[in-house]
Amino acid sequence: MQHHTGLFIPGPTNIPDPVRRAMNLPMEDMRAPDFPELTLPLFRDLKRVFKTETGQAFIYPASGTGGWEAVLTNTLNPGDKVLIATFGQFSLLWADMCRRLGFDTVVVDRPWGEGVPVEAFADILARDGTHRIRAVLATHNETATGVTSDIAGLRRALDAAGHPALLYVDGVSSVASIDLRMDEWGLDAVVSGSQKGFMLPTGLAIVAVSQKALEAHRSSKFPRCFFSFEDMMRTNKDGYFPYTPATTLLRGLRASLDLLFAEGLENVFTRHHHLAEGVRRAVTAWGLTLCAREPKWHSDTVSAIVVPEGVDSTQVARQAYHRYGVSFGIGLNKVAGRVFRIGHLGALNEPMLLGALGAAEMALADCGARIAFGSGVAAAQSHYASRSNLTAAAA
Ligand code: PLP
Repeated sequence: MQHHTGLFIPGPTNIPDPVRRAMNLPMEDMRAPDFPELTLPLFRDLKRVFKTETGQAFIYPASGTGGWEAVLTNTLNPGDKVLIATFGQFSLLWADMCRRLGFDTVVVDRPWGEGVPVEAFADILARDGTHRIRAVLATHNETATGVTSDIAGLRRALDAAGHPALLYVDGVSSVASIDLRMDEWGLDAVVSGSQKGFMLPTGLAIVAVSQKALEAHRSSKFPRCFFSFEDMMRTNKDGYFPYTPATTLLRGLRASLDLLFAEGLENVFTRHHHLAEGVRRAVTAWGLTLCAREPKWHSDTVSAIVVPEGVDSTQVARQAYHRYGVSFGIGLNKVAGRVFRIGHLGALNEPMLLGALGAAEMALADCGARIAFGSGVAAAQSHYASRSNLTAAAA
């Protein structure tokens, strides 16, 4: 593999130097008397990121997929009815997990490029008079298509229907980069992973659940072992874990949380919006479109860009990788060959993205797209220069 100047995939993201340095340490004793001095504040501070005071955070040595499984198997029962919409690879995989775990899975299939169909869900919930639906699952940010959904709107739909279903959100590519308010939006579980907004290596599933979900946990008979909430809670309350924790990643998480709080969470969200907007201006200047069909669905962490007819987006990503040392996300499944993705989350600033946009222009042109060099870069520059007071967190 050649040396890469840029990771512009939507996770894993760049690791800032303070986080990398915090992880450069010997292995440590996870049963040491002072280990809780590291771990207890982590649980407390994660709740700030999820914006919950009443919820509980869990950290598993797993990836985001493990977080999905932890939430489902700890709070539901086999055969329970769950409602989910699919509109991209990750919502598709979550629905697939529900089926494979034996839930009665009601799937609303939407075109890729749309988001959670709040109105369709409202109808389904209103018609579910006997409240058979136990949980509503929503992908906050569909990473495959660059679509962010209206989770607050979904909460309002549940409330309007007077429906008591649990509301579970996949926040893998939104938590710590796009605003998500667990308590205010009445979310019963939020799943995340270490390798995106937290700017860490892959390896931690970071989950938060509400008291209502913990109540559901008490009547859940789902077989579980590795992901068991009860084993976690029994040991976590004193700052320990039921099995060997990923101590190095926990040290990194401390440094990452410190960076997020030093910048300020709201500033982190604003920075992501600002960076994303520059990318969107570039796409428009190229005469191209996003996979996200409406502005209300535009994602601030990833843009999936539709390539012109006759251009293969996988080739665009390959060209960028081999020739210019830049990694972009390829199109997955239904949009394979049709979109490439620019990840703009984590430790990034304007000049880094301008470099990526310049490389994208060259790679697109190499693959036959008619792109005026500099057009997208200039459009992004105009936008970035208009907000020069924003400083980047990229270290
Ligand atoms: N959900 C979303 C929205 C994702 O983007 C991803 C991974 O990219 C996942 C879930 C799966 O997470 P992981 O690959 O960490 O298991």
